[in-house]
Amino acid sequence: MGVQLILTVWLICGVVTAIIAGSKDRNWVGWLLIGLVLGIFGVILIACMPSLSPQLVAVSSAHQQAEHRASKTCPECAETVLMEANVCKHCGFRFNSVKTISS
Ligand SMILES: [Zn+2]
Repeated sequence: MGVQLILTVWLICGVVTAIIAGSKDRNWVGWLLIGLVLGIFGVILIACMPSLSPQLVAVSSAHQQAEHRASKTCPECAETVLMEANVCKHCGFRFNSVKTISS
């Protein structure tokens, strides 16, 4: 009782800090040390920290969407245009009456 209990609580705070840090895509080893030093304050600190992951995921998914946007090849000029396009931006060829080959 006493010191041992405080040490146990401190240790748990360190682990909890590391777990929260890990879930926020942060360096959990570093935060484990911070949690062990600061105890409950480490938990409060990491809880207030913004997560790194949602922003990164949003950026990468937006990137993927741009890369994977469907496109088709213009039969007139053989340039790649977006699948939604009705008119070729390169030569002005109209797609609406023609079924283009899509892969
Ligand atoms: Zn064209």
